[in-house]
Amino acid sequence: MSQYDLIVIGAGPGGYVAAIRAAQLGLKTACVEGRDTLGGTCLNVGCIPSKALLHASHQLHEAEHNFETMGLKGATPKVDWKQMLTYKDDVIGQNTKGIEFLFKKNKVDWIKGWATIPAAGKVTVGDTTYDTKNILIASGSEAASVPGADVTIDEKIVVTSTGALTLPKIPKKMVVIGAGVIGLELGSVYRRLGSEVQVIEYLDKITPTMDNEVSRNFQRILGKQGLDFTLGAAVSKVETLKTKAKVTYTLRKDNSEHTVDADVVLVATGRRPYTNGLGLDALGIELSKGGQIVTDAHWQTKVKGIYAIGDVIAGPMLAHKAEDEGMAAAEVIAGKHGHVNYGVIPSVVYTWPEVASVGATEEQLKEAGQAYKVGKFAFMGNGRAKANFAGDGFVKILADKATDRILGAHIIGPAAGDLIHEICVAMEFGASAEDLALTCHAHPTYSEAVREAALACGDGAIHA
Ligand code: FAD
Repeated sequence: MSQYDLIVIGAGPGGYVAAIRAAQLGLKTACVEGRDTLGGTCLNVGCIPSKALLHASHQLHEAEHNFETMGLKGATPKVDWKQMLTYKDDVIGQNTKGIEFLFKKNKVDWIKGWATIPAAGKVTVGDTTYDTKNILIASGSEAASVPGADVTIDEKIVVTSTGALTLPKIPKKMVVIGAGVIGLELGSVYRRLGSEVQVIEYLDKITPTMDNEVSRNFQRILGKQGLDFTLGAAVSKVETLKTKAKVTYTLRKDNSEHTVDADVVLVATGRRPYTNGLGLDALGIELSKGGQIVTDAHWQTKVKGIYAIGDVIAGPMLAHKAEDEGMAAAEVIAGKHGHVNYGVIPSVVYTWPEVASVGATEEQLKEAGQAYKVGKFAFMGNGRAKANFAGDGFVKILADKATDRILGAHIIGPAAGDLIHEICVAMEFGASAEDLALTCHAHPTYSEAVREAALACGDGAIHA
């Protein structure tokens, strides 16, 4: 007799959500986690701590730049870095303890330690082997290094995002290698806290998967905030000197070589799936070229009864994508019909302003030869945004030219990460831009900018 119906390996947002849902559906479930706390990358060294530091540093920015204009006078706050890190750690603790509570509440057993899979139906942790009807691998990802470059990460001077969340002091000069979401969020944090920040990116644009128009505007706004961009530059070497690092890069346009010194170098060139120690080779589980576990449409690997979800499989490395897959896979394992709509997964950058998108970009529609129309509305025309010093940016909705069905949306502006969800819901229901435009939106809210962009897909926005 199996001890468990399901053992989940990894307690990140994919794994812990899957374990809770499986238990709710009546499966006897355990979750193995090698880390000391639950919550995975996201809660311990990812989404949550980075957002805590973004929040704190944004408050400082507001105090320095906007308080006086609003008649709030007095000494500008000084940064107590140690306390800021304590605040961040408290936030992590509250969240990871919350998952512990949810495991107890839902009767999910937490098996502490690193798991291997000796055979289908068996999971070994330390000296104990557990029998289980099903296994769900949710082992996540780890930071990747700079492709083709000579870089040694010591997590002190040359750091990944994990080291960047616990620096002993705020660096005078930080070089960020990679202008993706993680590099820009953490670069923003340190820029607001006073660091000189230079972002070096191989491609000629920042956040390369973003709609071009949004990406260009985003770069301009971050540039105004003092982030310095070196684009089209291939980093070849990062040397660690005693208390500094030297970064060597070549500009692709003229092949000229340059060096720059930094107190801290943040390597933010992406993440790769983490499958170390699981014993996948011996089981015959297939990996893609990029190291992701290959699954079928129901998240089952080549081996019956072994499933995989989250960062360790294909698709965007996002916590909410992992969560959705976790819930759906648990439902499939319980004999129900789990489903993830991969066409409607939002992505958000939590800088100020925020950037959020869902669905197709304009470039993708052009490439697909799809006839579309664009409705755009600038936050400068939104009363609430103007009052809150948040007039930078716009909402852009892309709709099918013939049917008006919403195909994608891209927002750069205040609360973009929240606003995007009304468009996600609309897309899930197959709504047209007109459906959004006909929906009454409360005044004065940022969401009126979404409605105005939807109106602009038709007869025109009112406040443009
Ligand atoms: P993970 O969260 O990586 O969890 C996997 C867990 O499995 C780990 O805890 C690991 O210890 C454990 N594990 C691995 N192997 C074993 C084993 N053999 N035995 C036992 N345990 C094992 N995403 C967003 O959507 N929004 C954000 O704002 C965001 N911000 C981020 C900021 C940073 C700095 C970083 C690094 C990432 C961020 N992400 C964000 C990405 C997000 O963290 C990941 O997409 C998400 O955590 C993936 O979830 P997962 O469950 O697949 O894996």
